[in-house]
Amino acid sequence: MTVLYRGRFAPSPSGPLHFGSLVAALGSYLRAKSLGGKWLLRIEDIDPPREIAGASSQILHTLTAYGFEWDEEVLYQSQRIETYQTQIDQWIAQDKAYFCHCSRKQIQLMGGTYDGRCNLCRPKLTSGAVRIVNHSKVDRFDDALMGTVIQDAHFAGEDFIVKRSDGLYAYQLAVVLDDAYQGITEVVRGSDLLQPTVRQISLYRILGLTEPSWLHLPLACTEPGLKLSKQNHAQAIDLLNPGPSINAALNFLGQAKVELAPANIMLEQAIKQFVLKDIPAHTEILL
Ligand code: GLU
Repeated sequence: MTVLYRGRFAPSPSGPLHFGSLVAALGSYLRAKSLGGKWLLRIEDIDPPREIAGASSQILHTLTAYGFEWDEEVLYQSQRIETYQTQIDQWIAQDKAYFCHCSRKQIQLMGGTYDGRCNLCRPKLTSGAVRIVNHSKVDRFDDALMGTVIQDAHFAGEDFIVKRSDGLYAYQLAVVLDDAYQGITEVVRGSDLLQPTVRQISLYRILGLTEPSWLHLPLACTEPGLKLSKQNHAQAIDLLNPGPSINAALNFLGQAKVELAPANIMLEQAIKQFVLKDIPAHTEILL
């Protein structure tokens, strides 16, 4: 049986969509739709201190103005808290995760990689950040664009945090549980998330779940190492005149431009013209 392709776009509502987010949305959309697959939308709203009021609805509104049509209902991570907590409780009960009180400074003194010491505490700690026992160390993966990506083995093999000491759920945990829940077959996103991918693969293995395939797009950067982001006040994309931004994003992704028309018609044309191997296999591109 062939599994239908299911892709997704998973913005965090920390501000309006900017050119960098448009590239991620468009890259994942073109890939999914050119393969006759589904494209789902998930709002990653589990970090309230970083959220901006109204950003979620603004993102949906912008995507619509840009001609994107998502399949199925939008999934909000804020509605999935119980699932995340149940998983953590289960891991703690099975000794597959443990509480940790170590500060950043202590970890620096360990050489920068957490050495697992709180897992040896007796009696075990009963509060603090929660770390997964990483018995499924993965330091490399195949990327559809970049080929084999190898990450630092210390980073990859650490018992990493799945719930923070401030009570917020770690991105790694939520993204894996939700990609699995939504049946995502390929994750297409920006190269800023190349590094955590190895940890996500470890979680899939710990959970006994089939991992999706991976495709990381180049990042739009204003200078080397500085991606365009909501945090560095990247300009929101133009809601009233999407055509030129769509063509700029297509060009960024190495795709042929399309004739200016209503946004949905431009996207339809872009889907027909999409060539995966024309996307530059770079982690960053300077604007
Ligand atoms: N929510 C993340 C962001 O906006 C993206 C997560 C992902 O695509 O895995 O940067």
